[in-house]
Amino acid sequence: MRAVDVVVIGAGAAGLSAAPGPAATREVIVLSAGDGSTPWAHGGGSVAFGEDDPLDHAHDTYVAAAGFCDPRNVRALVEERPQRVTELIAHGALYRREDGSLSRTLEGGHGHPRIVHAGGDATGVEVCRALHAAVCAAGVETMAGRTIGLTKSDSGRVNGVVVEAGGVASRIEAHTVVLATGGIGNAYLASTNPSAVRGDGMAIALLAGASPVDMEFVQVHPTALFTGEAPGQLPLVTEAVRGERAVLRDARGRLIMAGRPSGADLAPRDIVAREIEAAMRRDGSDHVWLDARSIEPDALRRQFPTVQASCASIGVDLQSEQIPVATAEQFLCGGVQVDRDSATGVPGPPSTRTACRQPAARRGRRHGWDRGRGPSDSFPLPPAALTSQGPRRHHIGSPSFTRDWMPRGRAAASVS
Ligand SMILES: Cc1cc2nc3c(=O)[nH]c(=O)nc-3n(C[C@H](O)[C@H](O)[C@H](O)COP(=O)(O)OP(=O)(O)OC[C@H]3O[C@@H](n4cnc5c(N)ncnc54)[C@H](O)[C@@H]3O)c2cc1C
Repeated sequence: MRAVDVVVIGAGAAGLSAAPGPAATREVIVLSAGDGSTPWAHGGGSVAFGEDDPLDHAHDTYVAAAGFCDPRNVRALVEERPQRVTELIAHGALYRREDGSLSRTLEGGHGHPRIVHAGGDATGVEVCRALHAAVCAAGVETMAGRTIGLTKSDSGRVNGVVVEAGGVASRIEAHTVVLATGGIGNAYLASTNPSAVRGDGMAIALLAGASPVDMEFVQVHPTALFTGEAPGQLPLVTEAVRGERAVLRDARGRLIMAGRPSGADLAPRDIVAREIEAAMRRDGSDHVWLDARSIEPDALRRQFPTVQASCASIGVDLQSEQIPVATAEQFLCGGVQVDRDSATGVPGPPSTRTACRQPAARRGRRHGWDRGRGPSDSFPLPPAALTSQGPRRHHIGSPSFTRDWMPRGRAAASVS
């Protein structure tokens, strides 16, 4: 049996950003059951800087979230975002630039072009690469293995995890357990999530005695690639394609968002997803069409290599043909109930306080600023974690930054 100070379960954006901070003074190990959603994120991340005021970003967030937000958390989110992107760049993330400055595109729910991308439509891969660099630099150990349970002391306090790797189960004792296991996608018939993402963290948290909250808020993405096969894991057709003016058509070729204000194909995801569902029901169809033929072939190739490859895999040439798409589960907005200091109330080892990093959406208190109903592309995200004696306020890229230290007002850091 091993013993460390902190076990982080999950090696996505949340887990990787939670790990380096405590590693300055404690032994930290990060466990992963395989690819999570982070390396699969296509669309990019939102950040308001320069002439784009973070308060406008906050406004768009309130509107898209239909008011289900905690204003303090939304404000912290939009004001911290430039700093987080700056940190990712410092860790080596290569974002797309034009004339030396970060280039930004428009996506669903945002009133300004403020989505930054890397690697065409492979932003998540780049974010992971940068965060892995940060984790390595901090001396954090990473280990492949699926956590299958928590261990408890005789007095019922969480004091470690049981990990299964290569058919062998072993125990790791820890003072702190951070849950950063992503969403619940594979509990659904159709999801854009990788197979490792199946709600393990929620199960572990519930068994440990934590309280679930807002589990009814699940974001459905409007445009997963309809592969024609049985439902399951479906490739995403990123919203950025609609950001480049692709439009949705029903089975008879009619514009699905016709009659709505111009640019409605980029309405918040829940609105577009409902319209698509309505069109499919009306026409008795299992998919609709995304027409990207008006996008310049060069732009398609440069900006959407992943989408292009997915389409090619089912024999669709997106330069000359429409893309069959359908709705699919994308991510969970709810999570584990925590307080503003990330405390879950689950008892940890004696003499340590019990704390939990709030899942990203939970920072918004009521299903969050960027989730079920929210502007897209608020990636990268802060960690979602359950912990006994948790690291507090760890953030993407440089967990040593705390929200308390961040200046208020316009963008806290310059990004260019
Ligand atoms: C196809 C797709 C495209 C997306 N595009 C965007 C986008 O453009 N912009 C945006 O803002 N967001 C996007 N998202 C959402 C974004 O990727 C996620 O919200 C974010 O990456 C979640 O990060 P995470 O660290 O919480 O979870 P994940 O990245 O899913 O990581 C979960 C980790 O937990 C591990 N794990 C799970 N169970 C166990 C277990 N039992 N034991 C050990 N480890 C375990 C997994 O192996 C993985 O390492 C997209 C999501 C998908 C699926």
